[in-house]
Amino acid sequence: MDDLKKPIYVTKPSLPDLQDFLPYLEQIWETKILTNNGPFHKQLEKELAEFLGVPYISLFANGTLALVTALQVLGISGEVITTPYSFVATSHSLLWNNIKPVFVDVEPEFCNLDPEKIEAAITSKTTAIVPVHVYGNPCSVDRIEEIAKKYGLKVIYDAAHAFGVDYKGQSVCNYGDISILSFHATKVFNTMEGGVVICRDAETKKQIDFLKNFGFAGETKIMACGINSKMNEMQAALGLLQLKKHSSNIKKRRVIDQLYRQNLNEIKGVSFLAKPENTEVNYAYFPIFIDEKEYGISRDMLYEKLKEKGIYGRRYFYPLISEFSMYKGYDSANPDHLMNAKEASQKVICLPIYPDLELSEVEFIIGCIADFRINTIE
Ligand SMILES: *Cc1c(COP(=O)(O)O)cnc(C)c1O
Repeated sequence: MDDLKKPIYVTKPSLPDLQDFLPYLEQIWETKILTNNGPFHKQLEKELAEFLGVPYISLFANGTLALVTALQVLGISGEVITTPYSFVATSHSLLWNNIKPVFVDVEPEFCNLDPEKIEAAITSKTTAIVPVHVYGNPCSVDRIEEIAKKYGLKVIYDAAHAFGVDYKGQSVCNYGDISILSFHATKVFNTMEGGVVICRDAETKKQIDFLKNFGFAGETKIMACGINSKMNEMQAALGLLQLKKHSSNIKKRRVIDQLYRQNLNEIKGVSFLAKPENTEVNYAYFPIFIDEKEYGISRDMLYEKLKEKGIYGRRYFYPLISEFSMYKGYDSANPDHLMNAKEASQKVICLPIYPDLELSEVEFIIGCIADFRINTIE
């Protein structure tokens, strides 16, 4: 096998043609409207709400501030049930609001919060559930809603991976009280940095829009201790262009996903997640799980050997959030109660997937994974 000419990273951000972006920049330079709910900001909110099929959207500077603000607008406090198998921003957003995260294990099928383990973790202090649609695969939204109703809890979905994902014929972001998306450079849809809060009613959107602008509810009126987390006009303009490319990007991702599925299926010791039912997925990630006994070498060994070949996968999500120093001390961080999360975290590598990834490169990656396997069993 020939070596790669250039390294392949887990993702490569998609951008529009620079030529297409210039007129937007010219308009910004001409009008001098740079931020504070300018024309591109307004237009992107409108177009995104239509594109995703959701009622109310507020644009943010990034996904983390969107989540911090979503928790604030709903007045969440005390304890919140969440998953350890996610990017650290999920729990950090709780700590930034003085909320105690309570970690509950994931189910093994999609590595999403296990709804059957939520009830046992509810206490008199629990006010909400913050599940994550990990890799863009929908959580058990109906079951979670049932539990939330029964105990009077709010549900805030960290949908950072789930841009454009539909479940049972509508946006997965229409479930729960609020969902947040991230438009970070590494995500399926990017505005370099960016994010949104999606909510159900106009009043909540109004409050969110106050909170992201210092709490200003008029020239001289401050309604709460808000923050500055507004998306600027350059980001919003980029978003308008990115939206035009989104469907074709998803098609390219789908072809890569198919190629991985068809070929990795035949390599013993390598498994991957099933396609979820009733779901229009976005092919945001391609996680594989390495069974060391069957594959012959460990996940970490494969990870290193791939790097030597110039293939930079990522171990999303290793370590678990509950293993980081600021969370380790909590009772709920005890790994004995997080066995499925722990196992996934020790087996996972996310393989490169992005619209510009060549199919020959995908074949090279598959070839390496097949070659590195050591036959120890048969
Ligand atoms: C990317 C990500 C975030 C944070 O989004 P930013 O836009 O980078 O702040 C939050 N949660 C999850 C699960 C993510 O993957």
